[in-house]
Amino acid sequence: SAEQAWSGVDAYLVDEVVGEDDALAAARARGRERGLPPIDVAPNQGAFLALVAQLAGARRVLEFGTLAGYSTIWLARAVGASGHVTTVERDPRHAEVARGNLDAAGVGERVRIEVGAALDVVAGLADAGTEPYDLVFIDADKANMPAYLELALRLTRSGSVIVGDNVVRRGAVVDPSDQSPDVAGVRAFLHDLGTDPRLEATVLQTVGSKGWDGFAIARVR
Ligand code: SAM
Repeated sequence: SAEQAWSGVDAYLVDEVVGEDDALAAARARGRERGLPPIDVAPNQGAFLALVAQLAGARRVLEFGTLAGYSTIWLARAVGASGHVTTVERDPRHAEVARGNLDAAGVGERVRIEVGAALDVVAGLADAGTEPYDLVFIDADKANMPAYLELALRLTRSGSVIVGDNVVRRGAVVDPSDQSPDVAGVRAFLHDLGTDPRLEATVLQTVGSKGWDGFAIARVR
């Protein structure tokens, strides 16, 4: 099948180009062992996030949706020892697994995990006048993506980068019969990306071990 072919190529690319070291592989495995859903980014996607962070010279990163901390490890490595990642997770069990994974990967000191609903937690960060983030990765529930984008805009500066995952959803985003909250949230997010004068943006479809989906990437003007 197409999905098997995509997964085979992903495995080849990860093997040839990206590499996934023991700490990353262990983080993924521990998530599975603890019963967390296998919805972390793929290794080549994690490497993509890390490269974007480095290209942007990011020192401060905000992540919506931690899960087992897999993408968080990539981002924490990218910001370096003097950098900082704040990652927000609603499920305390996920946050606990992530804390173990981040500490085991040796990046625990540069990551703060905020446990709570991202709308509340990040609004609190914005209200507190938190220093702007250089990169925001939006990867929590999809229904709230437009609200997360608005919050991200309160917590960034000109030149900051905003990335959103899962914005194609096996094509559901153009299926008029799909009016689920997730798909509606993604559509509104994409509409905002395309029309908000504060942003310039594009979307790339992705295929691979995570199926058919897409990454949105935007720069704050
Ligand atoms: N970024 C992770 C990675 O690539 O390794 C994957 C994150 S997973 C796709 C989404 C996470 O968002 C889940 O752990 C889920 O519990 C969390 N989540 C869902 N709704 C949330 C909310 N309203 N606020 C904060 N976290 C939420």
